Amino acid sequence: MPRALGYAKLAPMKPFIRYAGGDLDRAGLFRKDEAWILEKLAHPESQIVPVWRSMNLVDNLASAPATRLVARADANDILDNAHQVTLLGVAGEVAYFAADISLLDEEPALQLVHQGQFVDLRQVGPLLGTEESALMAHARGMLFWHQKHQHCGVCGAPTKSHEGGHMRRCTSTECGAPTFPRTDPAVIMLITHQPAAGPAQCLLGRQSIWPAGNYSTLAGFVEPGESLEEAVAREVFEEAGIRIKNVTYQASQPWPFPASIMLGFWGEAITTDIKIDDYEIEDAQWFNAVDLRRFGEWGDDDDKKHLPRKDSIARFLIETWLTKIGV
Ligand SMILES: [Zn+2]
Repeated sequence: MPRALGYAKLAPMKPFIRYAGGDLDRAGLFRKDEAWILEKLAHPESQIVPVWRSMNLVDNLASAPATRLVARADANDILDNAHQVTLLGVAGEVAYFAADISLLDEEPALQLVHQGQFVDLRQVGPLLGTEESALMAHARGMLFWHQKHQHCGVCGAPTKSHEGGHMRRCTSTECGAPTFPRTDPAVIMLITHQPAAGPAQCLLGRQSIWPAGNYSTLAGFVEPGESLEEAVAREVFEEAGIRIKNVTYQASQPWPFPASIMLGFWGEAITTDIKIDDYEIEDAQWFNAVDLRRFGEWGDDDDKKHLPRKDSIARFLIETWLTKIGV
């Protein structure tokens, strides 16, 4: 009997946000069908996404980076050595699986995939297309979850992967607790202020562990028992001593580095005197559009201040604000 595959795909709201917006059908309706998964996993046209210690496989790193998949027909050795294989989804009839070969040392892992290098996805993220950046982020995020949930959070017994890698279940017969893939919500916010005279300003800060000169929007994890808007207000007050209002949602970005989703907001300052929390950040300042246009790029080796990474939602929040105020 013919079956429709998965859910209707909604058009992505913000297709230019990196690591999101891929067109892969996650095939959620078929994950419990073990025969279907095994059939797809055996199919020679299925595609394997190898991941090694949370790093993705990239060809032509120095010249024109492109992520590399391995056709199932050439992936017997990869699957034989993978300790976790997870269904990512389907495009038409072609299924995509992530395969974790982290138990191998780097040299044997590279021999298995024949060509390319394993690199941190953020190293090449800004250079990748929507589809490949989303697929790689998905693979990395799913395999990181498996890696961190090898034991039951209830009783401590080992867990086992089920449903194409979208659920793990405790192997203890007395317990049997299931656990599902998690992503940690983090809020990230551009706080703005319009002085009585002069140009509009936005609040950026920097952490001491960042390379010199790098600034970004404030951010922090959502705590249990608070709304997203409350988390935004709390983090801004804790980190910079600023009280805010009119918190409005803008966009979100998967950020599997290692396990977050970034929820992007704008907010307006009620107070403007900055009092930083030395423990969390090293500096925070108000900047106007002219200031920001003088910033260099994240990672530049110069004396300037630098904007957030091009593949980050922080950059998106800043760029959309600059567009809104017309500069
Ligand atoms: Zn258990």
